[in-house]
Amino acid sequence: MRILILIAIALLLYLVIASFLRKQKRQQSELDSPAEKMVTCKHCGLHILEEEAVQAANKFYCSASHLEADQQEK
Ligand SMILES: [Zn+2]
Repeated sequence: MRILILIAIALLLYLVIASFLRKQKRQQSELDSPAEKMVTCKHCGLHILEEEAVQAANKFYCSASHLEADQQEK
């Protein structure tokens, strides 16, 4: 009968660890994907998603051509 107790304990441990890992994973994925951030094109003022923006020197542009245009103005 001792083996049944061991199995029961192992199963219980497994369930506790599994739910703990699941919780941790969920928290991590929330950190990994924050709400999509909007940025403004420095050249034309268009609002775009940060991940779609062209970034140069901590400034954002809606496209590579606006990045070039902004740099040429200086
Ligand atoms: Zn632009």
